Amino acid sequence: MRRITPIPLNFDLAVSPEKKVTRQVCAFAVLGKDLCLIDTGTAANEADLGRALARMDRQLSEIQMVIHTHAHPDHIGCNARLAELASPTFAAHPAAARWIENPDTHCRERAVHNFHEMVGGAVSVKNLLQDGQILDLGDITLQIIYTPGHSKGSVSFFCLEEETLIAGDAVPQLLGIPLYVDLDQSRASLEKLLNLKGVHRLYTSLSPDPIEGNGIQSTLEEGLAYLDRMTALVKATQARMGGETALPELTAEVLRGLGLDPPPVMPMTLQTIAAHL
Ligand SMILES: [Zn+2]
Repeated sequence: MRRITPIPLNFDLAVSPEKKVTRQVCAFAVLGKDLCLIDTGTAANEADLGRALARMDRQLSEIQMVIHTHAHPDHIGCNARLAELASPTFAAHPAAARWIENPDTHCRERAVHNFHEMVGGAVSVKNLLQDGQILDLGDITLQIIYTPGHSKGSVSFFCLEEETLIAGDAVPQLLGIPLYVDLDQSRASLEKLLNLKGVHRLYTSLSPDPIEGNGIQSTLEEGLAYLDRMTALVKATQARMGGETALPELTAEVLRGLGLDPPPVMPMTLQTIAAHL
């Protein structure tokens, strides 16, 4: 039996004060001697997490550790509730811990219209993850791979025993809203994952379906090609609109160029386009 199981979770993201879109994110159960959860979805996903664990003959109160790929609201939202139910140890990269421990700072620095609906509260992060560190979960291990770019505190996890890589949001989604804060770091992180040996299964946060075999390399390469296409699109849009165009107008036009109409201009997409300037 595989010991890393994806848990797909649906949540609402408000892309404007009037409009919500339903999106999916995956948390993962790591079924070692210690029960570990990778990411927690949003505050509204407690029952979904409980049902998914019940199908594995586990329950929320057994979770001993919660580790985070990064600190975006759809990855940390259920933390406070899990802290009440199970008192797990929370683990994240230091740059992610800052937002996990301070939701108000998080919301101020990267506002989302329905932030407080998505994030249930603060927890304290006792285990600060560093690149190369090995997390021992009893009879299964996770190697921490620092993969910033999508966010400052993004990490991926490689499980040697299961030959499985969990890349969170480090692999960009090819359709939909582009989300990253640093272009060079995003590229370097994809290249780092491309060079990782022994990966037979890749999961991203976008889908519960694993990517296997040659698909792993092509998925990571497609991520790099996507970033190149985004660079070309931003440059062409900027050239058409003029170099003095303000960031919100440029962002709106780039997003329209991706087929997103009305364009979801908000702090997270402004940060993405700013990463190209
Ligand atoms: Zn994210």
